[in-house]
Amino acid sequence: MSGEPRSIDFFTPILDFLGSLDGIDEVVLVSEEGFPVDFRRVDKKTAEVTAALAVDYTISTSSMLKDALGKPPQGVIIDVDSRKIINIKKIHDLILVVRGDRNAVEAGLRPVELKLAGKQVRCANCGEDLTLATYKCPKCGKTIPFTAETCPHCSAQLHVKKCPKCGALITSTGNLVVRRKSRASSILASIEGAIAGIGFGAAALLYSESPLIGGLIGAVTGALVGFLVYRAMPEEEVELSSH
Ligand SMILES: [Zn+2]
Ligand SMILES: [Zn+2]
Repeated sequence: MSGEPRSIDFFTPILDFLGSLDGIDEVVLVSEEGFPVDFRRVDKKTAEVTAALAVDYTISTSSMLKDALGKPPQGVIIDVDSRKIINIKKIHDLILVVRGDRNAVEAGLRPVELKLAGKQVRCANCGEDLTLATYKCPKCGKTIPFTAETCPHCSAQLHVKKCPKCGALITSTGNLVVRRKSRASSILASIEGAIAGIGFGAAALLYSESPLIGGLIGAVTGALVGFLVYRAMPEEEVELSSH
């Protein structure tokens, strides 16, 4: 069991969220009596069968495992095949059943756990609650949880993404990210600028024999090369901690 008793309304955004994810085939919220209270992606008949199965499993595994564990288990995971699972989770007097691709189900239930624990992921820029927000993977186009660090479908690394509300660059935990040139970039640009400046200045001095012109050409070339090198340097993403 996790958390305090929750009203059925509390689960509506959770069911909407799970039901909108790619790779999830069925979401059913089951009452203690074994009825489907709410469901997504399946018809009522399928939800009723799932609800009966969920109660069966939680009761039989509870009584079997209670002796072994000393306490009733919080949930059961059934392997349907090598890819698909059914996750049955007891949440106080309700049971949440999620069936689908293993990775998608696991990734989908992580933000649900946060929500149940009363924790939220918020955008550090606009304050939007992104705990149950979804995101289209830029690599495979599948709909995944916003908070997923890795795409459950194509394994793309998605540490930094845009806030769906304000467009700011943030991490999966909501921290702001800024793009800027690294310190090493500016140092390198200064060194290359100085070398070019000295070279051109010395050449100009040799040809014109005027220290003023040599110095002027050296300074202008140095600044220009330094600027161009700096501009060509790649930017790095730096995470600003919000807490
Ligand atoms: Zn993907
Ligand atoms: Zn935002």
